[in-house]
Amino acid sequence: SSAATPIRATLFPGDGIGPEIAESVKQVFRTADVPIEWEEHYVGDQIDPRTQSFLTWESLESVRRNGVGLKGPMATPIGKGHRSLNLTLRKELNLYANVRPCYSLPGYKTRYDNVNLITIRENTEGEYSGLEHQVVRGVVESLKIITRQASLRVAEYAFHYAKTHGRERVSAIHKANIMQKTDGLFLKCCREVAEKYPEIKYEEVVIDNCCMMLVKNPALFDVLVMPNLYGDIISDLCAGLIGGLGLTPSCNIGEGGIALAEAVHGSAPDIAGKNLANPTALLLSAVTMLRHLKLHDKADRIQDAVLNTISEGKYRTADLGGSSSTTEFTNAICDHI
Ligand code: NAD
Repeated sequence: SSAATPIRATLFPGDGIGPEIAESVKQVFRTADVPIEWEEHYVGDQIDPRTQSFLTWESLESVRRNGVGLKGPMATPIGKGHRSLNLTLRKELNLYANVRPCYSLPGYKTRYDNVNLITIRENTEGEYSGLEHQVVRGVVESLKIITRQASLRVAEYAFHYAKTHGRERVSAIHKANIMQKTDGLFLKCCREVAEKYPEIKYEEVVIDNCCMMLVKNPALFDVLVMPNLYGDIISDLCAGLIGGLGLTPSCNIGEGGIALAEAVHGSAPDIAGKNLANPTALLLSAVTMLRHLKLHDKADRIQDAVLNTISEGKYRTADLGGSSSTTEFTNAICDHI
């Protein structure tokens, strides 16, 4: 095992298939000798009054203390009087950017084989500020909030990401021709940050045109940064380009450099406990966590092993048209490592 002092990271195995795919990640990390020590936290079945949610204060403190974490899918508990788990995490940890690397998996055929882009979504405001009301009967109003502070923060993250990950270009996605004030401010902030990064090309693309370009030729894009609603839609569109949500990793960036990586898919109750789940999305999310920690050699080894296993085609889970169990697929990845 590794001689270096281990880095502590919070692990939320989550619900449904969560514990099965989290087990996969733990096994792969052990095999690759990753110097991470997991602090496991489960979602409770009672509301913690300090968080008004099923997530305990101790769980949130664990992420704050460690600064890094990995989150499995969490089923939305039914009933009133509590906050949604994802909302609690986003608000309490101030997770302001959602980052999704999106690249074609070699050997897994989709319509495109040359996708290699990153979507960076502002995650705290825009149309998702939750400010809606009825003006009079038959007329409702929703407020889209764009602030200089949140726009600069996400733009800064996007350019910093581009610079530190060998990317060449940042595209700001907008509709400032119609949303002149809000998207206009977002673009103004992106331009200000762009000036500090002369080595990174900067462009602005109107969202409708962006959609057309993405489905015609996704290779046209490198790093995309955008307000909340556009990011929600475009990031799922991009996941579709490479084979769906089951394969797509993501990472949430919070105040003070917190990184909470998570698979994009849900808890898959239909296949939970059956050893059928595909751990790829959670594994690749764990890889984004390693990259955040600058453990690039470990990240490369694990990413290559996952991609090679899928590309070989001998061991694949059912969602990718194979017949392997979660355990068989995981063992094959470990053999590649
Ligand atoms: P889901 O993603 O759980 O499942 C949709 C379909 O995809 C199912 O057929 C499922 O079997 C399949 N699938 C998903 N992940 C898979 C994997 N890794 N391997 C193989 N197949 C996989 O979506 P849903 O059914 O709409 O939601 C179920 C629960 O998950 C709900 O409680 C929902 O609130 C929750 N959810 C949580 C998150 C999150 O924590 N970020 C995200 C989405 C949904």
